[in-house]
Amino acid sequence: MDSHPARWWRTLEADDLGRPRVECQLCPRFCHIPEGQRGFCFVRANEGGRLVLTTWGRSSGLCIDPIEKKPLNHFLPGSAVLSLGTAGCNLGCKFCQNHEISKSRAVDTIAQQASPDQIVQRAIQTNCKSLAYTYNDPVIWAEYAIDIAKAAREAGLKSVAVTAGYMCDEPRREFYQHMDAANVDLKGFSDKFYRSLTQTSLAPVLETLEYLVNNTRVWVEVTNLIIPGHNDDPDEIARMCDWYVEHLSPDVPLHFTAFHPDFRMMDTPGTSHGLLRLARSLAQRAGIRYVYTGNIRDEAGQSTCCSTCGDIVIGRDGYRITSYRLTGELGNRCASCGAQFPGVFDSSGQPGDWGPRRLPVLA
Ligand code: SF4
Repeated sequence: MDSHPARWWRTLEADDLGRPRVECQLCPRFCHIPEGQRGFCFVRANEGGRLVLTTWGRSSGLCIDPIEKKPLNHFLPGSAVLSLGTAGCNLGCKFCQNHEISKSRAVDTIAQQASPDQIVQRAIQTNCKSLAYTYNDPVIWAEYAIDIAKAAREAGLKSVAVTAGYMCDEPRREFYQHMDAANVDLKGFSDKFYRSLTQTSLAPVLETLEYLVNNTRVWVEVTNLIIPGHNDDPDEIARMCDWYVEHLSPDVPLHFTAFHPDFRMMDTPGTSHGLLRLARSLAQRAGIRYVYTGNIRDEAGQSTCCSTCGDIVIGRDGYRITSYRLTGELGNRCASCGAQFPGVFDSSGQPGDWGPRRLPVLA
């Protein structure tokens, strides 16, 4: 497909060689891009003095996943989600766990063509309840993700953004009008960490989180990947959790996930179970009610307990649901004590039955 007109940019003065330049205003990098060049994310380009998105209508692959893999534990539990990504990224994480996609320079030739309608039809045919914009950050392909989300909403399907939240205010407001849920990475809680390991900064990510939780109806869960020696200081985790309770809500679920050596951090050890459990207990002590562990086998850390009576309402073994005890007209009350439970649930009182499978599909 041809390049697609991009949003959120302005024209700058020409460079010394007289070439027209543009400034991309989608993320806080504000790339200045001369004609014929691309921004940091590699997918937004200056073509003839206009900013274009080179990956509109191109996916690096479609896959049906359990919603718990995003991870979202309070959003249509057990359901299947049709996941897709493109290529490139606006972050420069040294620990990227998806670098084949995020650092891809070959998307123009390898990607599957997939129109929004084709993708939505595939989701309906495969009985998915939602679509996830994931694998690489949908911020950099926001125009394409929004077009898919509009088609999805018309068809009665929901949309999920899996993102690092590094985005400017105006596109953020528009993008999230079309989303129903988001998992946002909070990669650490110091600007030093963000600058040295991700080539970004912390403040815009915190702004995204506060905006989403306090100003929208988007269901939000947060992921913190714990990297030994880099963002595992207990004092820093405790400070992050205090900020979380004060600025977000104790009802926003938090997932601490295990790092595995990858990309430019092959010499850093993986996260131990003990470290994840310590982080979880620090978050619980700060008052966060739904705290999970991920990327490890840990039934206690992955099951959901009622914050009022303490009973297990959703039992999990990995991505498999082993028990489900939500009831009531909206399917959101604890079956033991009747307390209302935060999240988006099927009113049938039943979880989805997709299980832990991962199934690649064509558009
Ligand atoms: S979205 Fe891409 S081109 Fe735009 S400012 Fe961010 S990194 Fe640069």
